[in-house]
Amino acid sequence: MQSSVPIRPFSRRLNAIEMSSTSETVNAVARLRRSGVNVVDLGPGEPPFPTPEHIKQAAIAAIRENNTKYTAVPGMAKLREAIVQRHHQDFGSNYRVEEAIACPGGKYALFMAMQILMEEGDEAVIPTPSWVSFKDMVRFAGGKCVFVDTTSDNFVLTPQIVERALTSRTKVIVLNFPNNPSGALIDPSNLERIVEIASSRKIWVIADECYAYLTFVGKPLSVAQVMRHTSNVVIVGSLSKTYSMTGWRLGYALAPEPLVSAMQTLQSQEISCPCSVTQMAGIAALTGPQDCVEFMRREYAQLRDQAVAGLKDLPGIRTVTAEGAFYLFPDVSGQLRFRNLQAAREFSSLLLRECGVVVVPGEGFGSASHVRIAYSVSKQELARGIQKLQAFCLAHQR
Ligand code: PLP
Repeated sequence: MQSSVPIRPFSRRLNAIEMSSTSETVNAVARLRRSGVNVVDLGPGEPPFPTPEHIKQAAIAAIRENNTKYTAVPGMAKLREAIVQRHHQDFGSNYRVEEAIACPGGKYALFMAMQILMEEGDEAVIPTPSWVSFKDMVRFAGGKCVFVDTTSDNFVLTPQIVERALTSRTKVIVLNFPNNPSGALIDPSNLERIVEIASSRKIWVIADECYAYLTFVGKPLSVAQVMRHTSNVVIVGSLSKTYSMTGWRLGYALAPEPLVSAMQTLQSQEISCPCSVTQMAGIAALTGPQDCVEFMRREYAQLRDQAVAGLKDLPGIRTVTAEGAFYLFPDVSGQLRFRNLQAAREFSSLLLRECGVVVVPGEGFGSASHVRIAYSVSKQELARGIQKLQAFCLAHQR
């Protein structure tokens, strides 16, 4: 229906951001599927596993027992305790309950942190490739993104490149390890040095640890293990990937009490509290058996090996073996050259049109010569996707 009443334009803040390219890809796939195309979807970052049974049962019990009312703004006390305890057990951190807030997804915790920390014109240093949403969160908060590129160094983030990007306006350094989209981990000594530099210059570090438990080399790492004090660090965690709970929407932040308190104020005005039923499921996830986490991690490790082997030696494609998360971020610039294409966006649409394989173009992550492949699908589906990708690449070798 067309409105005849002229409307005023939307806010400038809204114009600073765009639809997430991964969400756009999800919409495009849904459209194709509706029209009957049989696509292999290596686009979204979704675990292929069902949520573990004991977590589902806790939610069912919560509904039966009428745990269906508003809760405290930062989440039920029991959930905040479970968050703090889990982090203590797994990473040796010593947060108090008052320093923890449960949110509907790690994304929301990150969004609130940006809203609270960034003033108009403040700078946020973001190592790239980076998850698509960081830049929009910074811009929506009025901040300016300062990107530091790690693609030419095989995604290795060093204190030196971060330090070079700092100015008197730097307010925040955003770290994400394991990284979406590259799957790269961070060296603990580099992490320690970055936190030291930030702290000496009174800069906040936002450590997005949503994939912390999905590492294939060494043990899961949290910034909590390397920092001396917590006054300038925000840890963001999520149950989405760890427990295969993306749709439940539950994440958290661990941060100094004044910041958690500010997040409570914001959360109270925006959403009141995370969903009560989800919170009960979250308590079961964090306090219950953890073997499901290890099971999924091993499955992802196998899928990673399968994906890396499938992409090895493909003409025009160069892949760094990811050590965490469930993504590969291959450089497709050779294929762009062979096919006379300008950028990853064209490569991705051609791959979809000719072979029905969905990957996310790298532009949104900060590189027009890479694509993101999510191997978080069944082994059979991954095999089908890789076979098609191989045929696509072998068709153009020079
Ligand atoms: N951070 C990164 C790097 C992500 O990839 C995602 C989701 O894909 C999130 C945060 C947000 O996760 P959620 O809001 O589901 O907890």
